Amino acid sequence: MIRLILAFILLTFAFPATAAPKPEPKRIALSFDDVPRQPGAFLAPDQRTQGILSGLAAARVRQAVFFVTTGNLDKPEGKGGEERIMMYSGAGHLVANHSHGHRRLSQISAEDYLEDVDRASEWLRNRPNGRPWFRFPFLDEGRADKAKRDAVRFGLAARGLANGYVTADGADWNMEALTIAARTAGKPMDMKALRELYVETMVGAANFYDGLARRTLGRSPAHMLLLHETDLAALFLPALVEALRKDGWEIITADEAYRDPIARASPDTPSAQGTRIEAMAWEKGLPAPRWYERENVKIANALFAKRVLGEEPAGP
Ligand SMILES: [Zn+2]
Repeated sequence: MIRLILAFILLTFAFPATAAPKPEPKRIALSFDDVPRQPGAFLAPDQRTQGILSGLAAARVRQAVFFVTTGNLDKPEGKGGEERIMMYSGAGHLVANHSHGHRRLSQISAEDYLEDVDRASEWLRNRPNGRPWFRFPFLDEGRADKAKRDAVRFGLAARGLANGYVTADGADWNMEALTIAARTAGKPMDMKALRELYVETMVGAANFYDGLARRTLGRSPAHMLLLHETDLAALFLPALVEALRKDGWEIITADEAYRDPIARASPDTPSAQGTRIEAMAWEKGLPAPRWYERENVKIANALFAKRVLGEEPAGP
């Protein structure tokens, strides 16, 4: 009897019934769009590339993906762009297709769109660390035109190109634009507040979309965070990655992210646009909002004005 009681006590302590199951780890990869992107408010293009590369290395991010918009190479800001892109891939990161002209599918024909994709593929052919992934500019997959949506889906598949979708979006492009506008207007920026706002917004995006994904899929998928090749990334990547890890995120490779089963989904929604999680939630009938509130530029702009510029909101 005593033995039984002892065994019971031992078992109770070894497997306490109240112990919460270990939470599923949250996993996310990083992607950077519009490479080579227009200059930001703070850095020369070479400094920006150096900053992003040293930031990724300092944060021990093994493999991010850079989506190249080859038409940008013909613009003034594209000078030296090829060398900078090769520096990314030379450091072990991936390069993939973000079209040549960065057009909205909803605004041009499927034929013209695919021709534009092919121009970028031509440039990317045989580049080291290339991947056959296509990221839709503006995440515009044809919106309400289902025939066009399907024509491009078919065209991409025929070319062996997979959709380089995103699962989380914090509208970093807008924050970058706000810093450029502030610089142009000669407004001083609180750089510590800017770093905190950037980090908090991107971590918030990851968590918002993970919550939506869990409600949609019943699990946490491997995520792909949408970022752009910005000065903000060059300045704040180590802080962002540190905050993500502190919040329970594991940084994974882009290859691993796109091995998730959601990579094979083909969501059918009234309008094809946005993150893959938004589309899958919509398809499943989850109510709006299916997007992170700071993707609303009005909300994002007010936060920036208050916290980075120290401006009080305008009265009624
Ligand atoms: Zn883009």
